[in-house]
Amino acid sequence: VEWTPEKGWHDARITPYGPLTLDPATSVLHYGQEIFEGMKAYRHDDGSVHLFRPEKNAQRMNSSARRLALPEIPEADFIAACEEIVKVDERWVPGSEGEKSLYLRPFMMATEKFLGVRPSRHVTFMVIASPAGAYFKEGLKPVDLWLTEEYSRAGRGGTGAAKTGGNYAASLLAQQEAYDNGCAQVVFLDSVEGRYVEELGGMNLYFVYADGSIVTPATGTILEGITRDSIITIARGLGHEVTERRFEIDEWRKGIESGDIVEIFACGTAAVVSPVGSMKSAQGVTPAPASTELTMKIRSALVDVQFGRAEDTQGWLTKVL
Ligand code: PMP
Repeated sequence: VEWTPEKGWHDARITPYGPLTLDPATSVLHYGQEIFEGMKAYRHDDGSVHLFRPEKNAQRMNSSARRLALPEIPEADFIAACEEIVKVDERWVPGSEGEKSLYLRPFMMATEKFLGVRPSRHVTFMVIASPAGAYFKEGLKPVDLWLTEEYSRAGRGGTGAAKTGGNYAASLLAQQEAYDNGCAQVVFLDSVEGRYVEELGGMNLYFVYADGSIVTPATGTILEGITRDSIITIARGLGHEVTERRFEIDEWRKGIESGDIVEIFACGTAAVVSPVGSMKSAQGVTPAPASTELTMKIRSALVDVQFGRAEDTQGWLTKVL
């Protein structure tokens, strides 16, 4: 779908997957004016296919659009575009075994050609899809984390709450550092004081205390994960008190040392819910928490709704096929 100020959104079409042709002066290539979403369609045992909370992705895309000076897309058009891709994708092979999901990547980018710095007047919105496998190749083994104290992904007044490539570009060197230290994901701290835990490179975090209460870092500069929001609902439904607040990195270290923190988990569309292992930094290693019990319980509760094995009491599923 294309957008110009004169015509608004127009020329919606489905084309075979293939390379794009972009003029070398296309503004997205230079100034990174682009946003994206990540979501999944889930196939149930009865063969039906459902999107999980697509209206939340549409709303988040539009809030990213406002921050990146891009046009908003009507929620219904966003969802319709995702549904069309799910319908034409040939990879929904009937009869294939196991949990099957299709990862959808809607994105919007500046397609005007010019070299000055200003918002683009030509914008393209697209959706591509890819069958989803296990996010962490090692399976559900706890993920070890690398705490970066040097790099942050989002500054005050910046684009931390938007899903835009620039945030990820800023995170790549820290991600490489994580790999070099044998870790799968990076822990980012706030950029102002460098002591509040924000999120991982692609996931939100939860801390579970011995008394059953749960803490997750507050929103503002983090990406407001749709899995994060769903887990707050699920955990409260299971009777756990969930608090969204600033969470100091020292609370993590001390909580593990004292045994007050019994579980830590991370969540996102790709990996759903994953137990967190040890946290390494230049200052040493904070060991993994003792348990993964509640983590696995919450994971099952969510995955069972997504795959249609539990009742969708919250109305989170949108049937496509
Ligand atoms: N934080 C970041 C930085 C992410 O990239 C993601 C993945 N979209 C998340 C959190 C989790 O968000 P969601 O649950 O919507 O996938």
